[in-house]
Amino acid sequence: MINEVLARIVGDDTTTWLERTVIGWTYNSNIASRLCRPAEVLCDFDVAQWMEAYDPGQCPCRSRRYMDMCTQASIELLQCEGQMHVITLDSSITDNPLLQGIIKAGLNHIPCMSLDIEEVQNELGVFLDKLMAEVMELWELTASTQSFLQRLILKKAKTKMIKYTEQHQHVSVEPFEHPAVKREVEFLTGRFLICPTDKAPNTPTVVCKNFIRKLAFQRLTRPEFVSVATSPASAIARIQGELSALHVLPNAPAALPFLMAVFKAQKRTFRWITNTAETVVSPAAELCACLLRFLLPLVQTFCE
Ligand SMILES: [Zn+2]
Ligand SMILES: [Zn+2]
Repeated sequence: MINEVLARIVGDDTTTWLERTVIGWTYNSNIASRLCRPAEVLCDFDVAQWMEAYDPGQCPCRSRRYMDMCTQASIELLQCEGQMHVITLDSSITDNPLLQGIIKAGLNHIPCMSLDIEEVQNELGVFLDKLMAEVMELWELTASTQSFLQRLILKKAKTKMIKYTEQHQHVSVEPFEHPAVKREVEFLTGRFLICPTDKAPNTPTVVCKNFIRKLAFQRLTRPEFVSVATSPASAIARIQGELSALHVLPNAPAALPFLMAVFKAQKRTFRWITNTAETVVSPAAELCACLLRFLLPLVQTFCE
């Protein structure tokens, strides 16, 4: 479209002007980030308040709606409680027609969005400004030719977009912003932890939030963990202090890693993991991973 306008206004020898220009785009946040929210379940909550309020007999899992999604595995894992909770790869949740519709409507990591012509016009304007500033041949045009080109391209784009929306009127709302989808997602993430399944990372496991919290505390009471009376802020400060000895490490966000879970379907247990991205230990973890990669060939040679 831009080349077309350029050729018409400036001349045929403009065909090579934009040869080096590459147009890229970024993805919207993926569906997983909207559904899998371990931080909300296992990190950002008031422990005392939850413990006080939690009553296994009142867990949403007890309602008839979830009866057939409750599993014996929850009793085996949390023997102290003796109540069944939802742990499921159950199709009655993953087959939710709205969620499926979203996945079907596009590549599953790009929720299809309604076309906001004004927004695209703005973005295209910004893009053209950059193009004019960075492509030498365009930059050398007079200011009035530049703005004439811009206006013409934007007008042409608008006509194309209007024509497009007329032909594709049925896509009117971005599914994730649709109230019905929003309600479903809030409902699901409010009651359940949706976590990946071991060996099948794209298959979500739906687990009762209360159950998984309780299970996490059970894990933490085992002898290999020691409870320390330190506030998160002072723990972060201490880690930062120790890591400051390594001058090469870049600044890290002042956040502690938190628990995440992966369901091992065959063994009917959970594997606990923590996040390494975006925490105070991330740069150190990256450095360690890097060192291990360096050592790998040596170890391989040694073992041969
Ligand atoms: Zn439950
Ligand atoms: Zn490296």
